[in-house]
Amino acid sequence: MPDTPPPAAAPAVVGSLSPSRAGDFMACPLLYRFRVIDQFPEAPSAAATRGTVVHAVLERLFDLPAPERTLDAALELVGPQWQALLEAEPELAALLDGEAAGSGPDGDLPAFLADATDLLRRYFALEDPTRLEPAERELHVTTVLESGLALRGYLDRLDVAPSGDLRVVDYKTGKAPPPGFEGKAMFQMRFYALVLWRLRGRVPRQLQLLYLGNGERLHYEPDEADLLATERKVHALWRAISAATERGDFRPNPSRLCEWCDHRQRCPAQGGVLPPLPAGPLPLGVDADTDELPSPSSPLDEV
Ligand code: SF4
Repeated sequence: MPDTPPPAAAPAVVGSLSPSRAGDFMACPLLYRFRVIDQFPEAPSAAATRGTVVHAVLERLFDLPAPERTLDAALELVGPQWQALLEAEPELAALLDGEAAGSGPDGDLPAFLADATDLLRRYFALEDPTRLEPAERELHVTTVLESGLALRGYLDRLDVAPSGDLRVVDYKTGKAPPPGFEGKAMFQMRFYALVLWRLRGRVPRQLQLLYLGNGERLHYEPDEADLLATERKVHALWRAISAATERGDFRPNPSRLCEWCDHRQRCPAQGGVLPPLPAGPLPLGVDADTDELPSPSSPLDEV
């Protein structure tokens, strides 16, 4: 009997990257440092919390039999999903309590729920969930490239056609970027497509972004050349992150996103005082706890 060659050993993991943290480094290396190296906490926002509730509703909606996935059914899920989130994170009550938070868009629970309702109405204008049967929802995916770099992330939804074609769907609770500014969102989708290609040996047929903030849809059909280019970009980014980590040198990159950044008081580009780096060897890469920050706070972390 001929010898069977042993299976190739998986490469040793040298670090890991998610599209969110890759996006942080591209937008502002110092923001990446504050989130991944220092792991400073960030305050939750009403917008991010609303996004979490809407994502939960859209996940649970597909638990219902197809004919029952109506707008009314989705709206009935808003209250229970908000309550479930509140039980898990009681501090969110203060964020939306009018007396505690003061007047304004962040301090009004009825307005918060009404906004969530508007987002769901726009979802139903974009697609009909009674005609869909997602293969996966809130799917955690991870793969290790030959270089040892682990890529990871969460897919909002994965649809698989009878032909085996894959469609990756991501819900955004903000508005679609203007023409010519779709790059950041599409990088995230290509990143997911690369992970799925490496995991399943099949290039996803379509990447689809549903913008519930203004009811627009972006879609893209990647090919192998796109995903190989994405892999090269991810490796180049990883080399830049590794070099910054070795030097302990993360430069601020001021932009209009600073307006939503939680770290302005410690950012020298905003007149703040840069705290010293943590003692000891700096963590290279993204550990499981910071892979996807749970409470995105702004357009810095569109959900
Ligand atoms: S305030 Fe702006 S420049 Fe400073 S860390 Fe935040 S995003 Fe970067």
